[in-house]
Amino acid sequence: MRIHKTDFRLWTRRDFVRTGLAAAGAAAVGARAHWGMSPAFAATDAASDLDVLARRVRGRLLRESSPGYDEARRVWNLAYDRRPLAMVRATDVDDVRRCMEFARKHTVPIAIRGGGHSDAGYGVADGALQIDLGMFNHVTVDRDRRVASVGGGTRIRDLLRASLAAGLYTPMGGCGSVGVAGLTLAGGDTSGRGLYGTACDNLIGAQLVTADGEVRELGPDRNEDLYWAIRGGGGNFGVVTRLDFRLHPVVPLHSAAFQIGWQGIAGALRAFGELIRDTPDEARAGFYLDPEAGASVECGYRGDATAAAAYIDKWTAAFRPAQARLSTSTPNPEGEVWGTTSVAVDGAFIEDLSGGVVDVLARAATEGRGIGQMLLGLSNGVAARIPMTATAYPLRGTGLSSLFDAEWRKPEARARAERWVAETGAALRPWARRAYVNYLPPSAPERIREIYGVNYPRLARIKARYDPANLFRENQNIRPEAGRER
Ligand SMILES: Cc1cc2nc3c(=O)[nH]c(=O)nc-3n(C[C@H](O)[C@H](O)[C@H](O)COP(=O)(O)OP(=O)(O)OC[C@H]3O[C@@H](n4cnc5c(N)ncnc54)[C@H](O)[C@@H]3O)c2cc1C
Repeated sequence: MRIHKTDFRLWTRRDFVRTGLAAAGAAAVGARAHWGMSPAFAATDAASDLDVLARRVRGRLLRESSPGYDEARRVWNLAYDRRPLAMVRATDVDDVRRCMEFARKHTVPIAIRGGGHSDAGYGVADGALQIDLGMFNHVTVDRDRRVASVGGGTRIRDLLRASLAAGLYTPMGGCGSVGVAGLTLAGGDTSGRGLYGTACDNLIGAQLVTADGEVRELGPDRNEDLYWAIRGGGGNFGVVTRLDFRLHPVVPLHSAAFQIGWQGIAGALRAFGELIRDTPDEARAGFYLDPEAGASVECGYRGDATAAAAYIDKWTAAFRPAQARLSTSTPNPEGEVWGTTSVAVDGAFIEDLSGGVVDVLARAATEGRGIGQMLLGLSNGVAARIPMTATAYPLRGTGLSSLFDAEWRKPEARARAERWVAETGAALRPWARRAYVNYLPPSAPERIREIYGVNYPRLARIKARYDPANLFRENQNIRPEAGRER
């Protein structure tokens, strides 16, 4: 069973077991007319031009007839068995630009594969040209400037290893094999965001190849519109080939975990809701449901051990007689990695655990016994206080970034898993109009629009300017909508 966690060591079912606790389409097709085409692609049909592309790129190009095609198109979520037109393992920025040129000419959508861990399987798409960034896996750390620069296909573990070697760190997710770019561009459900902001808040620069093939440097004073858009707007605006992160000192996390089980889940949720009502930036908290072991609660405090003990005491009192399992940890680059699986997901950003939402969650938990898991992780502090329109990422204000997922091993279990996830998501919608886009299944445009809320019109205008043909649509898609850019 995969555990989809937002922090380093705690909360995982494996840990509980180990410690004995467990038990558009291309609407604007005409737009390509004004983009210059190199004479390299002379053929009118895509198949012949693929031969040209294969010769022009330095990286390997695979298509249906190539050995290794089936292996290469596999992504982390095996529920998505998709067949791209071709896959290019890009070796440099020029390879990426040549792929764009082909995609523009034939209006073929582009699927970007970074770490390949998209829950909705976006790293691969039927009929698309996949740009695989696996070769863009490099990290450099400037200890004096406290900046890490990574390639667009770098995994979390590699960023963490290199930054921790310098005694520094930036908020990331807990699974080391997840792609840094895929997580950061969607915002990031991250550990340490209360103190430092979330992943996209620490993105201080990037290199982006846009659909027109231009290589653009982004930052607070360079291409500000795109810099704003990629901090939350996902892979909608081009291929990010480099990301620069602000680094911070490592602060130890003091945690306590309480096993609740299957009895009294609603009461535990209410107590949890009270405890997270007013938290210091150093605090973290999570409510977790395991399909076998039932519910558990975790709290943590980053910083001084005495202050941590006082914070944890409140939780110990609230969850008595459950025993607190105490631990102290620092980020772990070798953090758990989950093998490929077939899984259905949905997400919700729950602002407040009061009123009817607790009953909905408790009922979903009971109905999910033996089927699915839930993870409700506190988003607070610095990440919560950043104004909604400062970046495209829309999950500002304190809340619980929540994920519901259910795996299956045998095909006959698929329908049950998908039903529980869909019903849980639908039941929560009245209390959570927003959600972390990386926790969504492939979603209707209306849902994406609603989630981005006040930021959507600006995103759609930037999209229209830089990707009018919506070549980057194999994602949580922002539709290009022309309008006046402020
Ligand atoms: C086991 C597991 C644990 C996870 N844990 C967390 C967590 O703790 N916190 C959290 O926030 N999320 C978590 N996630 C979700 C994760 O953030 C998303 O699945 C994310 O899309 C993974 O990025 P990737 O590069 O690995 O995926 P890919 O499938 O390679 O890419 C997904 C999409 O991201 C975009 N993208 C990726 N790289 C680039 C790039 N270089 N340029 C432009 N666009 C790009 C593209 O739209 C692409 O289609 C987890 C997922 C899994 C499977």
